[in-house]
Amino acid sequence: MSIVNKLARKELIDMVPYQSARRLFASSGATEGKVWLNANEASGSGNYQVNSTSINRYPDFQPEKLISAYSQYSEVAAENLLATRGADEGIELIIRTFCRAYQDSIIICPPTYGMYAISAENHGADVIKVPLNKTMSLDLTGLQAQVGKAKVVFLCSPGNPTGNLLSQQEIKTALELFAETAIVVVDEAYIEFSPEQTVASWLKTYPHLVVLRTLSKAFALAGLRCGFTLANKEVITMLSKVIAPYPISAPVADIASEALAEPGLEQMNQRVLETNALRAQLATWLTKQNWCSEVFSSDANFILFRCQNNELKDFVFNSLVENDILIRDQSKQQNLENCLRISIGSERELSLLQQVITQSFTNNGATKATAQTLS
Ligand SMILES: *Cc1c(COP(=O)(O)O)cnc(C)c1O
Repeated sequence: MSIVNKLARKELIDMVPYQSARRLFASSGATEGKVWLNANEASGSGNYQVNSTSINRYPDFQPEKLISAYSQYSEVAAENLLATRGADEGIELIIRTFCRAYQDSIIICPPTYGMYAISAENHGADVIKVPLNKTMSLDLTGLQAQVGKAKVVFLCSPGNPTGNLLSQQEIKTALELFAETAIVVVDEAYIEFSPEQTVASWLKTYPHLVVLRTLSKAFALAGLRCGFTLANKEVITMLSKVIAPYPISAPVADIASEALAEPGLEQMNQRVLETNALRAQLATWLTKQNWCSEVFSSDANFILFRCQNNELKDFVFNSLVENDILIRDQSKQQNLENCLRISIGSERELSLLQQVITQSFTNNGATKATAQTLS
């Protein structure tokens, strides 16, 4: 046994790191020329000014202009905000703050975002699974059975990779179930695509509610690594004891503040309108394809759909890869057999995707035979 394996925490030896969209295709060569529709990023980058005149100094722990810009945008008081290195850091901080390693647990509702379980495992917290219902709503009876058994409950609305919002009523019921025993996290990474559904204003009512936000999706800043945790002041104070001393670098604060100023917000709102329209078009197209058996309703910047069988799923996925278009295979997730997820890229990217799929089915005789066996 190597010295490293002898010394490392046992559970890390076999642990598989998060298979991010980037990592999955890191080995496939140049990133240029590829159409990236696998990580729910926005297409097209903005143009930002960075000020380096004070770069010799450490940044503020929480840059004031950034916090005040996000406070204004989110209508949540500055004292209820913590800026983090992406929403992913928020997830990690919550687990490290509330779960004792090798003693406490979190609850997740799969199919859901992968980082909740990864962060928990990394920290040595157990993961209790209460799968979503067939309609992708919360299994409230299942959750009730776990009351008292976990410190943190992760809900995702709109869900990733499912795409749908949880109803406010079911979130409320979950909050009430866990009022005495757990922090309830509502991950709103995609809330800009249906902003009226945010539960951020409930922070005043529920001291155990935490809302996660990010600039990675609707704000088109995934490469910046900037997110926000919205919570009761006591929660923020506690998380502040665990987070690194300078989580937000000065250039990050500059760019994020610019994105949150009026022109930036206008661009974001425009991007959301375009994305929602392109999503509707793509959903209509998918519904008409005979190899597609189900299109899930989406309130986010991606669409999840199910293929008639595993062969067709692989055929669609691989035909796209061969043409340098990358989407995400979600078929390993609970209840998502034969499912793929497409991020809503630009109009050009999505029409290319449709052309490639159509062409591949036309060209491929073997697959025609497969399609015949279906009808
Ligand atoms: C993308 C995503 C995140 C992470 O966002 P970052 O701010 O880029 O870390 C968190 N939650 C969900 C559901 C996401 O899809």
